[in-house]
Amino acid sequence: MAKLFINGQWVAATRGETLPVIDPSTGEVFDELARGTAADIDLAVAAARAALNGPWGKLTATDRGRILLKMSALILARSEELAQLEARDTGKPISQARNDITVAARYCEFYGGAADKVHGVQVPYLNDFHVVVLREPYGVTAHILPWNYPAQMFGRSVVPALAMGNAAVLKPSEDACLSPLAFCAIAKEAGLPDGALNVVTGLGEEAGAALTAHRDIDFVTFTGSPEVGTMVQQAAAVRTLKVVLELGGKSPQIVFDDADLERAVGFVLKAITQNGGQTCSAGSRLLVQRGVYDKFVAMVAERFAQSAAGTPAMDRDCGPLINAAQKARVEGFIRQARESGIPVLAQGQVASGVHPGGYYVAPTLFGPVPRDHRLACEEVFGPVLAAIPFDTEEDAIALANATDYGLIAAVWTRDGGRQTRVARRMKCGQVYINCYGAGGGVELPFGGVKKSGHGREKGFMALEEFCTVKTVVQYFGQ
Ligand code: NAD
Repeated sequence: MAKLFINGQWVAATRGETLPVIDPSTGEVFDELARGTAADIDLAVAAARAALNGPWGKLTATDRGRILLKMSALILARSEELAQLEARDTGKPISQARNDITVAARYCEFYGGAADKVHGVQVPYLNDFHVVVLREPYGVTAHILPWNYPAQMFGRSVVPALAMGNAAVLKPSEDACLSPLAFCAIAKEAGLPDGALNVVTGLGEEAGAALTAHRDIDFVTFTGSPEVGTMVQQAAAVRTLKVVLELGGKSPQIVFDDADLERAVGFVLKAITQNGGQTCSAGSRLLVQRGVYDKFVAMVAERFAQSAAGTPAMDRDCGPLINAAQKARVEGFIRQARESGIPVLAQGQVASGVHPGGYYVAPTLFGPVPRDHRLACEEVFGPVLAAIPFDTEEDAIALANATDYGLIAAVWTRDGGRQTRVARRMKCGQVYINCYGAGGGVELPFGGVKKSGHGREKGFMALEEFCTVKTVVQYFGQ
């Protein structure tokens, strides 16, 4: 689909250039994208501004919600076709792609239902004064997304912005953006007025940088790496724009001696193999109390040994990684850990019959990983798990909080007091107790602290991120 979606129309990039779309499970080109640049961003931002001053800006909150609800129904009606597209574009197993499409529809349902339920307040003040606090859209919101969950990210970033009455300009990832483009056609069919949603595909340093530096945007939300997130925040700071950053993670699974190990083991495997570990909230550090370290790590190793990466249709634990650079990066982490003498406790398979040009990496479990090794501290963004033993509750808390990141954490223990003590002391945005939901549900506020970013998406609270507050003070005395 070598077109941009601007002002409700499909248009070629101004310079007429394209980028290849590569299937990660074969390494072969199967489509092309429009290579949007600053001139296209100008058109998209102008269309969004005009929409705010036109039919889109005049819709009631209820009508905005109805459009999103219709989008949800249309996405569900085409879910299989969209899931196949998502699986081809990202390489993920088909059952994960199906889930991602269902979740995207759920975002439209959740925020469609919520659109007219974000209320301002009336503030008691002096006699003869009437004070109301209004919630208003920011205006033109800029959205920059990564490649790992394009359908879900659209739902989580763009949909709440539309629910609150903003007009959005989206720059999805050049590595996976077909589902956001498909959602534009669905939005149009659902009755979204022209210009409310604009999508400019292209490279980060071209279209992305032009969007975040644009003089007529009012808000920026970015999901991606901490390095680019910092650049985005710097660009936005020039105009003191509000920025929401959803960045990476190195999330710990903390397993205490008294944990239900049988229950934990499946979650531990899934938390690092889901999406090939290319999940910001992947459970990439396995912290295990010394009394059960050998036993539990052996249980996890057994599961790892049975795991496999395969094509989307094979529907194994994970698919290929997104591109050759990501494969090389993850293999670099594995090689360096081996060279450091860290034992490989188990390695899964790359399923037989996959295309040799695909970007497959077998799930790998290392342990014990020294606490200061880069495998214990840095985000790999691949199916590589670092097991580390700990001694006491205090030691576990210090170790869990010891990275630059703070996105999510899991605590596995039957001790109710310990569950609460540890959860409260985690420096992160979500804590799971005896469960793990990488990223969590649509309803659950999500986001990080420290290098994982700031601001919250998902849940009802996200709607507060996508609107600003205006206090109106009226004197009504005579
Ligand atoms: P990335 O930072 O390389 O790219 C993200 C997006 O930014 C892409 O659309 C890219 O084109 C764009 N971009 C690149 N340079 C830019 C620039 N100079 N100005 C503006 N935009 C630019 O990240 P990625 O490789 O696509 O994704 C992987 C990273 O994303 C990981 O670190 C991962 O943890 C993080 N991530 C975080 C979350 C979260 O919610 N916290 C979710 C998914 C991914």
